[in-house]
Parts: sequence; structure tokens; C-alpha cells
Amino acid sequence: MSAAIYAARAGLKPLVIAPPMGGQLQGKGVDVENYPGLHDVTGPAVVNAMRLQAVQFGAVFESENVPKIDASTRPLKVYTNSSVIETHAIIVATGAESNWLMIPGEYEMRGGGVSSCATCDGHIYRGKDVVVVGGGDTAMEEALVLARTSQSVTVVHRRDTFRASKILAQRVIENPSINIIWDSAVERIVGEILVDGGTDIDDEDDSGDVDLDNAQKYVTGAIIKNVNTGEESKIETSAVFVAIGHTPTTSFLEGVVEFDEEYSGYIKTPLERSTQTSITGIFAAGDVSDPVYRQAVTSAGSGAAAALDAERWLSEEGLGNEEAELEAELLAELMADEDISGSSYNAYDQMGGRMTGMKESARVEL
Ligand code: NAP
Repeated sequence: MSAAIYAARAGLKPLVIAPPMGGQLQGKGVDVENYPGLHDVTGPAVVNAMRLQAVQFGAVFESENVPKIDASTRPLKVYTNSSVIETHAIIVATGAESNWLMIPGEYEMRGGGVSSCATCDGHIYRGKDVVVVGGGDTAMEEALVLARTSQSVTVVHRRDTFRASKILAQRVIENPSINIIWDSAVERIVGEILVDGGTDIDDEDDSGDVDLDNAQKYVTGAIIKNVNTGEESKIETSAVFVAIGHTPTTSFLEGVVEFDEEYSGYIKTPLERSTQTSITGIFAAGDVSDPVYRQAVTSAGSGAAAALDAERWLSEEGLGNEEAELEAELLAELMADEDISGSSYNAYDQMGGRMTGMKESARVEL
């Protein structure tokens, strides 16, 4: 959204093509607490405010999916499900999706104790027992973040060694607040869904017709199974943090731009200090090219950077600002017709040169 705001303010007339369901922030029902300047505001409310801001400056939104981009000719072509849009520059900001276990209780309890972001939701479980699933760097970091505030953290991993870097794994192993359960898979997440006095989902069929969006939900446990012995047991827990990797939403760009060799599916931005991808005119912002930070605030920053890069590239190439080009042409014609070149009006000259101390912008820019 920040790319749209910056591009719109630069007069680039951005068209934002996105499906109506939105990204990770849109799915965050609790307050966004780690975005500077925002508090007491939920993810969807933040997205809506950003959207209104972008619209106010001239961005146009189209609710569509983009299954394909064609960069083999110029202008570039963006295929939506209903049209083909020609453009000089594209900013890809399609984000990344957390991978989920796809087990019973997981979807149902999202927002009520099932999360994929300890930084976002960990504080809710201050002083409680929590579970982290996974054995990679993300799982280690999630466990370490949670260990600062939760009473205990149990890491459940499906093998007997961590995939994570040695240093992070060692920190987890040595942390007295973190227990590790090896060789185990989480089979089911159980809890209570409180609607009209309460329903529990110990039995996975119970959640059938419940309005999950408006229900109060509380995770109470995770059923795990030892992958060697098949033995099942229950961990009492208030939350399950699923940290089994992310998948950037970039499959529609296969064969178009280059991908990062180390981080599968993430778009490569080969130039130092630039959001430019391997294809000129295509820029990447946010989680699609960031396997490390993946925060709303870092994504917003890279969206602004992508809009600035796109604007600079378009102006270097002399592309994009048809209105300005037309105005310049008309002015040139007018000057030629009336031969007023020697007597043109210049406000600075009229005022005796440069006016120091004048406010140069109508609004304060941050
Ligand atoms: P990852 O390295 O792919 O690890 C995913 C973990 O989840 C693995 O341990 C995997 O188990 C487990 N897993 C996957 N699917 C599962 C399933 N269905 N059920 C149970 N467990 C499952 O992902 P990541 O930890 O998000 O890291 C992604 C990349 O970002 C990595 O290259 C990582 O180094 C990097 N990263 C770096 C940092 C850092 O340097 N500070 C921080 C975060 C991420 P197996 O091990 O058995 O496959």
C-alpha cells in the first residue's frame, strides 16, 4: 500500500491489482502494536486507512488476481482474470503466506491461540504455556521471542535434529524456559469455541456450523504423535505457534524474473540498494523479496523504496507521464505560435529572485 501512496503522490497514477481478501495484515484481527504511531487499531483497519490514503492521492484499485505477467515485450503486460493491462512499470508486492500444518483445529482456532507470528501475538500469552511447531530458524526465533514472556515454551519438531542454524538451535536447547519434543508431529489442536454458552472442539466435528469469525476461541491443547512409536499424547497449552516456513506468492512470475538461489520462491533483487528485479521495469517490495524481516513496517518501507525506484526509472527512460508529456508538447506549440519566448513570466524573477524561508510544500512530509 505504501508503494501505491508514494507512486500516486508522484503522479504516476498507480493501478493496484489485488484480490479482495487482502494480505497478512488484513487477516490480523488483533491490534497492530508494532507499527510506529499506531495503537488500538486492528490489521484490517490499518489496511483500510492506507487504502483510503492511496485513493485520495489518485491510486485506482481493481479487485482481481494476476495469474500471469508477460515481460517479453514492452509495454509489460499484466494478465488479470478478465483483462490484459499494459504498463511501463510493475511493483510486485504480493507478499508471502505462512505455511500451515493443515490439521484439525488449526484453521478453526486461528485468532484464538493458533498463530504464525510470535512477534505479533506472543504478548497475548504472557505468563502462559505455549507450543512452537517447526525446527528451522523461524521456529527457533519464535521460541526465543516467546521464552521472554511466556511461562514455558515447548518446541515440537518432527525429526531428532533441528534444521536451524547451529547458533540459534543451541540457544533454544540451552534456554531453561524451552522444552523440546523430538520426533513428533502435531496431529490436532483442541480448544474451546464460545458461542451461546460454549462449544469445545476436542471432537473435530463439533465446530461444524459455528461462526468462527465472531466466536471467542481459546486453545487448550495440542495432540501430538511420536512418529517412531505412534504413541499419542496431549500437551496442555494456551497457544500453538506454527513456524514451518513461508511461501512467497510469486509462482505467477516463474520464468519472468530471477529468484533468490538461497531462499526458494523469493524474488531476487540483484542490484545493491534497489528493489529492481532481474527485469528492468519490474520492482519487488515487501515479503516477496524479504525472507528475513517480514514485518509490516519493513514491507511498508520497501514499498516506498520500490515506488521511488520505479519513478526514477520511468523518468530516466522518459516513460509514463503522458499528461506531462502532452502538456510540454502543447506549451512548446504555443510558444512557437506566439513567439513569446523572450517575454515569458517567471514568478521568481518577478519577486526579485529566490525567496528564502518560504514553505516549499503544502503539507509536512514524513
Ligand atoms: P525452513 O528452514 O524451511 O524450516 C521449516 C521447518 O519446519 C523445518 O524444520 C521443517 O522440518 C518443518 N516443517 C516443514 N513442514 C512441516 C510440517 N508439515 N510439519 C511439521 N514440520 C514441518 O523455514 P524457516 O525456518 O521459516 O526458514 C526459512 C528460511 O529463512 C531459512 O533459509 C532460514 O535460514 C531463514 N531464516 C533465517 C533467520 C535468521 O538468520 N535469523 C531467521 C528466520 C529464517 P524438517 O526440518 O524436518 O524439514
